[in-house]
Amino acid sequence: MLTFLNRHVAQPYFARRAKSRHLHYLRLLEQRQYDPPAAVAARQLAALKVQLTHAYATVPYYRRTWDAVGVNPADVKTLADLTAFPVLTKADIRAHESELLSTPYRCAKLRLKRTSGSTGVPLTIRVDEPAMQWKHACTIRSDQWSGYRLGQRVAKVWGNPEYLHHGWRGRLRNRLLDRAVYLDTIHLTDAKVAAFAAEVRRHRPGLIFGHAHSLYLVACHLKKTGVLDIRPNGIISTAMVLHDYQRKLIAEVFGTPVTNRYGCEEVSLIASECEAHAGLHVNADNVFVEARTGTPGPLVVTDLVNRAMPLIRYQIGDVAVGAGRACTCGRGLPLLDRIEGREADYVVTPAGTLVSGISLTENFALLIDGTAQVQIVQETIHDLRIRLVAGDGFGPASHTQIEKLVRDTFGPTVRFAVELVDAIPQEPSGKYRFCISKPARDHLQALSA
Ligand SMILES: [Zn+2]
Repeated sequence: MLTFLNRHVAQPYFARRAKSRHLHYLRLLEQRQYDPPAAVAARQLAALKVQLTHAYATVPYYRRTWDAVGVNPADVKTLADLTAFPVLTKADIRAHESELLSTPYRCAKLRLKRTSGSTGVPLTIRVDEPAMQWKHACTIRSDQWSGYRLGQRVAKVWGNPEYLHHGWRGRLRNRLLDRAVYLDTIHLTDAKVAAFAAEVRRHRPGLIFGHAHSLYLVACHLKKTGVLDIRPNGIISTAMVLHDYQRKLIAEVFGTPVTNRYGCEEVSLIASECEAHAGLHVNADNVFVEARTGTPGPLVVTDLVNRAMPLIRYQIGDVAVGAGRACTCGRGLPLLDRIEGREADYVVTPAGTLVSGISLTENFALLIDGTAQVQIVQETIHDLRIRLVAGDGFGPASHTQIEKLVRDTFGPTVRFAVELVDAIPQEPSGKYRFCISKPARDHLQALSA
């Protein structure tokens, strides 16, 4: 009953008050998702041409850089023609932030999207209001693929609930509209998880939502304490890398499959799994995505809707694999096989194969006795330094295991040295890097140029 009231009364009421058309857009987007791939591609090409023409006419940065290399939106006849345009990096955005703003939007009220700067480059992107509403509708559409329905309660496993910053209005809005239950994941304790479990039991949310590693930790706590009766309609994991062991345990504890979703502050939702869980559908109504099929490569994204500060061929810094196949669900939205991780977390073999640092360090932890923590530093394509924190059980056998793992992964010609260290320092952002490799960065750069 409350879900019905929320969906049909509270949601439309707050949307009207905010003069937001997102519920109207949602109906349109839900119809469109089953259009055949050719229709989706045609719509993307039309949207791309409009965006490129707008950018060339009103964004000084694009006019200057495109003129310099001799490309023009009028020459774009197919989606593949976009590759002639230069790539936009985080460093470019940072260096030319005001030049990237569209002239007619300079005085408009715009939404600011700040990235945390986990890659060392904090950015502010400006998004116009109609684009925000469209993106919001796109996100609700894909969230519902998880089994959740708009109007149901949501439990968020998330640091720092947003609504607490907005006083009683924020709390009221949360009670009536968002209906979210939060678990603050900063300093997670058994007592906090137990309180969250009790609240979730009482409110029976339709959706549990959070970062892969937080969902996993919560699932571990619940399993340990025997709480196995929480049954949401859907679970959405938002971190880019959801390991299979995490997916398996979360699904087991909550009794429903995990829906992996990928996006970023700069352009919002990029791709999401559907109920088939066999790859991620590109949010083609919001972005055009370039990714290599069948093999890892840099993900390049073009925002099709934000006119205020259009991001065109933005190299986001993540690595993905295109699927090159249709999904069994019948949706015509293109499919990515997987999101592999950050470009910064890669090393490259002399044969030119990219190796994901996350899986490599995972292999170290699994296959080398007594590995507490490891970081791979690749100085040249033929030289590796393995910085390792030794734990219990590290000994002569471990060195033999390292040798085998390096040979199996990188081939016979690579030189390597093991450096035993007391600790591996964090980056200024507080994150720990699996790999540091200039050759891999150069390799990835060359792939997207
Ligand atoms: Zn599908």
